[in-house]
Amino acid sequence: MTAPTVGIIGAGQLARMTTQAAMSLAVDVKVLAADPSDPACIAATAVEVGDPGDLAAIRRFAEGCDVVTFDHERVDLAAIATLEADGARVYPSSTTLRFSDKAHQRVEFSARELPVPQFAVVDSAADIEAFAAAHGWPVVAKTAVGGYDGRGVFVLADPHEARQVASTLVGCQIVVEPLLDIRAEIAVVVARRPSGAAIAYPVVETIQRHGICVETVTPADVDQCLAAEASELAISIAELTGAVGILAVEFFVTPDGLVVNELAPRPHNSGHWTIEGAVTSQFENHLRGILDWPLGATTTTAPAVAMVNILGGAHPTDPATRLSAALEVDDAHVHLY
Ligand code: ADP
Repeated sequence: MTAPTVGIIGAGQLARMTTQAAMSLAVDVKVLAADPSDPACIAATAVEVGDPGDLAAIRRFAEGCDVVTFDHERVDLAAIATLEADGARVYPSSTTLRFSDKAHQRVEFSARELPVPQFAVVDSAADIEAFAAAHGWPVVAKTAVGGYDGRGVFVLADPHEARQVASTLVGCQIVVEPLLDIRAEIAVVVARRPSGAAIAYPVVETIQRHGICVETVTPADVDQCLAAEASELAISIAELTGAVGILAVEFFVTPDGLVVNELAPRPHNSGHWTIEGAVTSQFENHLRGILDWPLGATTTTAPAVAMVNILGGAHPTDPATRLSAALEVDDAHVHLY
């Protein structure tokens, strides 16, 4: 069997970790990197430098790839749809990728009576104020696309703050919703094949600080019925969105039950623990899913697994200076990128 070639649009840390899994399966990985110093370039079998948003660049890149996937969802959906029309195998598909748009996701899910917060899709301070008049202040306003790590999420206390934030988001679609009483945030990572076979990892609790996931704990310390409900919802959302490969579904646990927060149609930081903590990592299952190969078991390799995400900050110290101390910790694994 000749090694299949997976093309990854974008060459960040997720592409790099996917490449590590690809090596064990003799899968070649080609990355489309915006910059030759991007994290995955050192690991990939082949690197093309180009603009991941440029149709000509991604068309050229897709030639010779058995399947094309993504490092992140900040891609031009029309360009991806054109690639699909060319006959390229692209997973996640443009249909699935569109659910990263928080407005599209909320509208589609509420139409299907999936649990989502009360919301409105707006584009002005006046609309935010109208929503708050009906639901009360404070409200949460978030940009429908382009946000990550809490960037693009604003808690608004009053009309003055609404006007301030709206003036920085002119021309953007905004999702506005009540400030929820969140008791916990949990996530379910699902792997799925084109045929529809799907498997969920155990439910993870994600601990967020300033919109950034700083820690995950598996299994989540939540009621078993709630965990089962989250798994079932995540699998049905994977089906509904036509996900192939990994799909992460984030939920809020509120006094009224679960609500879906957002989707990530790719390996996700709520699944990084699976590298050593699960029988099959999310990166390997992403490859298996997009290549339509049998999915691997998602069970944990220990009774409990934690992941801690440490960011460098404005003046990062070289992690190498602390690496040996971290490696002294029994059964801890370090991933630097
Ligand atoms: P991002 O796409 O940047 O990850 P999210 O929509 O997940 O943005 O929001 C980031 C964080 O903001 C969430 O993890 C949660 O802690 C908080 N948050 C988002 N929406 C609400 C809400 N309606 N009520 C309360 N907190 C929220």
